[in-house]
Amino acid sequence: MSVRISLTEASRRAPRILEQGDSLQLDEGAPPTLNDLAGALQFALGDGRIWLNDERMVMIQTQVVGALRARMIASSGMEQTRKDLLRVGWGQGVQLAELITKRFKQDNVTAALAAGPRVHTMEGFAKVVTKRFEFDTAKRQYLGEFYWHDSVEGTEHLQSFGVCDCPTCWLQVGVPSGYTSTLLGFPVIFREVECIGQGAQHCVVIGRDAASWGDDVPELELFGLKGKRNKPSQPWTPSTSVAFKAKKAPRDLGQIVGTSAAIQRAKRLLEKAAVYSEPVLLMGEPGTGKEHFARYLHTCGAAPDAPFVPVNCSAFLGADPSELDTLFGEDGMMVRAEGGTLFLNDVLSLPPNMQARLALKLHDRERHKMPYRIVAATGRNPQEAVKEGKLRTDLQYHLSVLPVLIPPLRDRTGDIPKLIEHFLDLHSSRHVKPLEGLTGRVFDMLLRYDYPGNLRELSNLIERGVIYAESGGKIDINHVFSMIENMPQVATRLEPGTTTGDPTSVAKIHEGWTLEEMEIEAVRAALIDADWNISAAARKLGLTRAKLDYRVKKFDLSPG
Ligand SMILES: [Zn+2]
Repeated sequence: MSVRISLTEASRRAPRILEQGDSLQLDEGAPPTLNDLAGALQFALGDGRIWLNDERMVMIQTQVVGALRARMIASSGMEQTRKDLLRVGWGQGVQLAELITKRFKQDNVTAALAAGPRVHTMEGFAKVVTKRFEFDTAKRQYLGEFYWHDSVEGTEHLQSFGVCDCPTCWLQVGVPSGYTSTLLGFPVIFREVECIGQGAQHCVVIGRDAASWGDDVPELELFGLKGKRNKPSQPWTPSTSVAFKAKKAPRDLGQIVGTSAAIQRAKRLLEKAAVYSEPVLLMGEPGTGKEHFARYLHTCGAAPDAPFVPVNCSAFLGADPSELDTLFGEDGMMVRAEGGTLFLNDVLSLPPNMQARLALKLHDRERHKMPYRIVAATGRNPQEAVKEGKLRTDLQYHLSVLPVLIPPLRDRTGDIPKLIEHFLDLHSSRHVKPLEGLTGRVFDMLLRYDYPGNLRELSNLIERGVIYAESGGKIDINHVFSMIENMPQVATRLEPGTTTGDPTSVAKIHEGWTLEEMEIEAVRAALIDADWNISAAARKLGLTRAKLDYRVKKFDLSPG
């Protein structure tokens, strides 16, 4: 693209932008600062995971970026690669806008827009300098100019292909387009007007609302925005921006949250099993959400509106023979599940007489088509239970036609951020308590915790946080972790350097905190919160006054 236009020229052509927002109105230190953003970056060392809030990241060498680009250009040509990378960059920008509004609950659009260049800089693509931007949401107008120093893409392009006659930072220029359009709710397109790939000293990038670029805006089609061009007749309203949508979007609670390999494997098996009416056996540790998975299987089946009847088999322990009717009688649960699913939770605790009856039913099933599906769940290995005489061999044989392993949370830690968000939504709407989210430090601790109680425990922790946090505030460590749980170590965190030029200060890595350091931090936070009133702080921490007194002395804490 060889559009060359200066900001002054652009301003002269565009109708004057009157008000609404201007980068010049912002303080240098307006949040989220580079420090705040670095706080969202977590290195779970040794765990194979790097997070930017809830997005998983990887570190790759810039040469790899260069090699990937060169391979793409070799196989699909320059123009196709440019389009593909622009599109990928757009998607990245949309995700970043969602991340910024989610993590920082930024209702100041100007500040949220200003955070984009900082994230871009932090991610290492280039050093972005904001010359100026201004926008008017009512008129759906935007104008901005930025400089990129030392762009990775431009440098790599130069190295592979030499000086180019058009701009080369394709991936990067898609990012601000996606970011700004998502935050403002109308299409804003960024173009590079000068690029180091063209031999310029630095890249110059200009962003404008789509209408201001004139009639030829091929990016609209590229980004899937065809027909969504600037329509002044439709004034901008907050409901079109993600900041607002994020609060309103209702979550589908019947879905399985998470994208980890372990959960996708389980999901795929359930979806396959749903097509058939054979019994399914769900195996998983306590708290892994087996009933939720059984419901998911039911919804994926042919009759999602038919009844789903959950039965807690341990309730029959020690029950007298008349209880058989509860399950098998004329008005029993089996009859109620007709056409749908009978879910036998904790099936190994079914007493022997009921096991015999169930085995018989399942045996009959092979001859006459049963009008319902059986999904059984157990936290134990059924083969071992057979050896111990806790499960009838024939029943095990009938139930284990389609076994599905439900993974423990420690095998799907990549799903924790999404699960936190899910449970936060769930509990804050259940308790009708609007919250701003979690502080970075409690989020980090939740990422590091080992969850012996699995999903149920994570859900409980978040619910506790929702209940203890102040309405409209943020959930912090002392709202979530009582002294019952072993406080997890916080993830190692990168501190941004005070000077950008000094590599040693940028890479200053703090070791993970010890359990005692976490405890000291929690005690200190509670004391400060309670204005050093020991009794009040003890209540917050769920400790007796004496126990807190002991800790204050042991850790040598004082208001000074
Ligand atoms: Zn460039």
